Amino acid sequence: MEQKHRIVYGCYSDVWQYGQHDKEQLKALSVEVIPEEFSPQMKGKTFCPICATPLSRTPDADAISKNNITAHYKHGSKKKYPDSIKCEWRVNAKPGLNYESEEIAAKAIENKELAIIHSWKSTPPSGDGNDIDDTGEFDRTAIEDENGPNTEVPIARHNGKSFSLPSNISTVMALCMNFPANLSRGFYFPNSQYPMLLSDQLYSTSKLTDDLPKKETLFFGKIIGFRELSARNVIEVESSNDLVKIYTDKSYDERKHISKKSKGSYLLFSAKLYSESDSVYACKVLNWGAYSVLPKKYDKYIEALR
Ligand SMILES: [Zn+2]
Repeated sequence: MEQKHRIVYGCYSDVWQYGQHDKEQLKALSVEVIPEEFSPQMKGKTFCPICATPLSRTPDADAISKNNITAHYKHGSKKKYPDSIKCEWRVNAKPGLNYESEEIAAKAIENKELAIIHSWKSTPPSGDGNDIDDTGEFDRTAIEDENGPNTEVPIARHNGKSFSLPSNISTVMALCMNFPANLSRGFYFPNSQYPMLLSDQLYSTSKLTDDLPKKETLFFGKIIGFRELSARNVIEVESSNDLVKIYTDKSYDERKHISKKSKGSYLLFSAKLYSESDSVYACKVLNWGAYSVLPKKYDKYIEALR
């Protein structure tokens, strides 16, 4: 999916300075600011979450109101900020992360810049199920990853080389927790071609066409309906022509607090879609870890990807 403006948010900091502090400190010392929230006092103090070079917001406030242009962030010049040359959020960067060696990929995993997801958790953790509240927030035990087996991952896009790397058995809920930080991390999902930034591999259901993705894909869409059948529930999500039906496990929905009240929230789900009828796409999502409602406070980030 080609994104015209790829920088979903900037890291605004009064403390962190380019050239003075370490790149690794930026996230801890800054707050996430989407282009629409940028104010003049943030000028020169807002940085790219991936390459940590200064960003400018364009156009300035006056031009936005006059010309109805969408606000977006831009990197500085490549000459002045060489660290930004290879940034995956540069407009022309090809989607897909490239690691030159197994060691570099392993280091990225250690630094939490990359995660290899072997599979989605199939059943919920034991416990009383009070691990998710009504706003869709999870506590940490609900989403703790398990170690997965070492997984063959193609890490060098050009030569097709793959390496065996440690993986996790994870949940879409874990992606939804600290969602902005995850958007700028690399992930290798089950059936991925190669590792990519999360922001480059979230597929909006409003962009679906009859040429459906052939593989399991991570989709997101706004919930427009919820129905209880005898054996399953159906979560209905908006799509380009009508709706997407997601068949789910009743007990999992209950534990996740997904109900009629979830209408208007965004659902993230990993699935292989099929055509159920002329205008309806459908899928079964029966693994506990393969779907989640996005906490409302993150709507502004996902709306930039629609
Ligand atoms: Zn950057």
